[in-house]
Amino acid sequence: VVSLGLGWWLGRRIAQEATWADLVRERERQVEASRRELVAWVSHDLRTPLAGLRAMAEALEDGVVAEPTAVSDYHRRIRLETDRMSRLVEDLFELSRINAAELHLTITAVPLAELVSDAIASVAPLAASRRVRLRAPEDGWPTVAASEPELGRVLANLLTNAIHYTPPDGTVALSAGAERDTAWLAVVDTCGGIPEAELPRVFDVAFRGERARSPQETGGGGGLGLAIVQGLVTAQGGRVEVANTGSGCRFVVRLPTVTVP
Ligand code: ADP
Repeated sequence: VVSLGLGWWLGRRIAQEATWADLVRERERQVEASRRELVAWVSHDLRTPLAGLRAMAEALEDGVVAEPTAVSDYHRRIRLETDRMSRLVEDLFELSRINAAELHLTITAVPLAELVSDAIASVAPLAASRRVRLRAPEDGWPTVAASEPELGRVLANLLTNAIHYTPPDGTVALSAGAERDTAWLAVVDTCGGIPEAELPRVFDVAFRGERARSPQETGGGGGLGLAIVQGLVTAQGGRVEVANTGSGCRFVVRLPTVTVP
């Protein structure tokens, strides 16, 4: 009986260790895959537009493009593309700060009412230019424990995405509430929904869905926006999730609440 018991115990330990080693190997494989994806992303999203910029600059320099409207169109495209690349580099920098745990967060009591009204004011021109209505209740906003600039960035990324992926005459609605010691902040759009197969991947670095914005669009984020959102929310002790609603999708950020005396 003793040897049978020992054999069973040893067998279980070996099986457990094998599972553990499998898990470590699987994690290493995932890290390696995402590193490779990022390298491929950098080479595609930075090298390709750089080659385009160079070609446009050369065409101007050599006088191949000389007609005044064509010249000004080339100048405009060079400026837009440079702006987009600057944003990509900033996003990449932000992501590397998050991954290297180099964020210096100052967690304070952040009243969502102010943060939301600032975020809405800054995206209002974009929403108007795309004929998307923005909705948010006047009051009832909880106060959360968060780092204000980072939470502002999270909200800005979620709102700009929602506006970009919602067709004209659609709506982007913000709402929030609290349950016990957790507050939630939701951004709901009428984008038509995210394909089910894409839902689990939207927070991955460099993931871009089928309907991703074209790189020519000024708002194109290169698939880093939601990875930044998830990194910043997690760093603040919260979590973020996405679900389809039928007519669109809903991103919900959960953070600890603060009871203001
Ligand atoms: P990007 O928008 O630059 O492609 P993101 O990381 O912000 O990168 O988003 C990843 C993908 O998730 C997008 O390509 C898009 O397919 C999908 N997505 C993000 N936000 C929304 C949204 N509000 N509505 C519909 N799809 C979205």
